[in-house]
Amino acid sequence: MSGNSFICRRCGACCRGDGSVFLYPEDVATLTAHLGVPTQTLVDRYTDFIILEIAEESGGWRYLPYLILKKNSEQACLFLQNNLCAVHTAKPAQCRETPFVPEFFTDPAWRTEVTERCPGLRGIVPDTFVRPPEDRDERYLSLLREHGYNLGKILGVILPPPRIIPAADLS
Ligand code: SF4
Ligand code: SF4
Repeated sequence: MSGNSFICRRCGACCRGDGSVFLYPEDVATLTAHLGVPTQTLVDRYTDFIILEIAEESGGWRYLPYLILKKNSEQACLFLQNNLCAVHTAKPAQCRETPFVPEFFTDPAWRTEVTERCPGLRGIVPDTFVRPPEDRDERYLSLLREHGYNLGKILGVILPPPRIIPAADLS
């Protein structure tokens, strides 16, 4: 976690409920090394394959493949144990940044919601929080373009049929 005077209360709220953790190829590599499993095993056991449907300003649509972390029947991340992250030292970049992900700085509604949910943010004036670098998405898009948007090829795995999710429906 980053940010002036922010202290994570280790409540696990950000690892449950609505919201998705997006995995980038570097996250997949870190997790497989940490768990000591082949990439295919990580993908099969711990992730869902989605295609994000994004409305373009031009009126068209863009479809981007992503892996997101799977949740259990109670909508908690599979790595959440006793409110703590079982893969703490190898957690995905999005988890490392939480709650200071890019939306925190760009989406007032999102920021209000997360501030209500995260006890670590209560009572803090969040004017000096550090915004994380945003080149991760750009890097990922370049990688996808280079490989014909074939995420399975990039990761060297066989992916299941994806769920197509409109970006507007994803929290
Ligand atoms: S919701 Fe906030 S306080 Fe709770 S675990 Fe997540 S970052 Fe920490
Ligand atoms: S990987 Fe760890 S920090 Fe990220 S959502 Fe799962 S339990 Fe929480």
